Amino acid sequence: MEIRTRFAPSPTGNLHIGSARTALFAFLFARNKNGKFILRIEDTDKERSKPEFEKNIIESLKWLGINWDEGPYRQSERLDIYEKYTKKLLEENKAYYCFCSEEELEAQRQDQQSRGEAPKYVGTCRNLSKEEVEKKLKEKKSSVIRFKIEPEKIKFKDIIKGGAEFDMGLVGDMVIAKNLRQPLFALAGVIDDFEMNISHVIRGDDHFTNTPKQILLQRALGFPQPEYGHFPMILAPDRSKMSKRDGATAVSDFKKEGYLPEALINFIAFLGWNPGGTKEIYSTDELVKNFSLERVQKGGAIFNIQKLDYLSGFYIRQLPIGKLAEFCLPYLGEIKDMDYLEKIVSVYQERLKKLSEIKEFAGFFFNDIEYDGGLLKWKDMSDKEIEQSLENSKKILEKIENNNWNKKNLEDILMLEAEKEKDRGQLLWPLRAALTGQKASAGPFDVAAILGKEKTLERIKKAIELLD
Ligand code: GLU
Repeated sequence: MEIRTRFAPSPTGNLHIGSARTALFAFLFARNKNGKFILRIEDTDKERSKPEFEKNIIESLKWLGINWDEGPYRQSERLDIYEKYTKKLLEENKAYYCFCSEEELEAQRQDQQSRGEAPKYVGTCRNLSKEEVEKKLKEKKSSVIRFKIEPEKIKFKDIIKGGAEFDMGLVGDMVIAKNLRQPLFALAGVIDDFEMNISHVIRGDDHFTNTPKQILLQRALGFPQPEYGHFPMILAPDRSKMSKRDGATAVSDFKKEGYLPEALINFIAFLGWNPGGTKEIYSTDELVKNFSLERVQKGGAIFNIQKLDYLSGFYIRQLPIGKLAEFCLPYLGEIKDMDYLEKIVSVYQERLKKLSEIKEFAGFFFNDIEYDGGLLKWKDMSDKEIEQSLENSKKILEKIENNNWNKKNLEDILMLEAEKEKDRGQLLWPLRAALTGQKASAGPFDVAAILGKEKTLERIKKAIELLD
């Protein structure tokens, strides 16, 4: 049997990191088994589905390298198919039109609750005669289509969660469509999974309780039952459900912050799965080779941003300098001198965790700097001492020819001088602060070498003036 999985997002928001994981696991499972992975956009909810969200989902998947073999199919383009099957259910008396108004349903619910019962549809319209139904439809009385659910136990084996059993006696006849051409999610999904020959439905835990209802629909329609696997949800570090409050939650937000797709994929894969062993760095190809549903954990997966930063730093360090400079460009505005940028990013490659940090780290190379004079002070140096220190650096640096202006030379000469002080910081701190305007930055030799002689001296002079 060919393994066929699908990712079936509703385009009602940007691609969430949790949905990306669902997509990734379904993708990895299919690839690992030489199967097919299908993308299906579930856009039957007309009010909430938006083209910009579909675009975001598709672009995010492509950026992550989660590539599909078929699709994107759109449910909104498949209404004839759903109509055919919904009619069949109605004709076979497995589904029926329900004309109960919202007020009637609400009154029933309250009645049940007051008797301490769980609310469920009482079945008012279950046995309306054909004539009654036709009359009401002709009168254009508002209606929905309900599916008959008998009180029975539904058992199935979830690949991840194990055996599951649901008592359908607790569930009333469920609404499966607003009308023949407006199926709801549970019905449309079941029909598509059949039509698309899906062998494994791999999705988030939030759909676990939908599964027995979908199994009943499959049986009613005479469809084979696919295998099911539901992943645990992703939790914030305090074990609460992850939300926007916990920072970026959409894949495109992580992209904007400057995480590389390789890092994000590696990170997401380990949210609730691990191949065993200590190896942490996995390319997509390696993930495909090693992935198995058996190793997906049952408990919630904690979202640990430090882990993402660690992986991201690793992947950034692997980049050739030219590429890194290119990737950093959008965070720095108009820059024409790529050689200059390459020199800068090579100094920061070691410490970058995400590309957006380059702006904070290296903005001073491109813009005039402003800082408080107090920044120039090393330990308990007096203003006079700071000024002397800066004058000293200036004098030494002025003597270095432009063609000898490189990191090695600057370091040799300045260190020789710094060693003469009782504390090297007395020479090096004010100099570094004067060049960068930052409390923490790359060292003064790196910075001076890149800034060049003219700019370096200019900044030292400015610092001296600041002290006056
Ligand atoms: N469209 C559903 C969602 O976005 C997924 C349904 C499914 O995977 O079966 O939550």
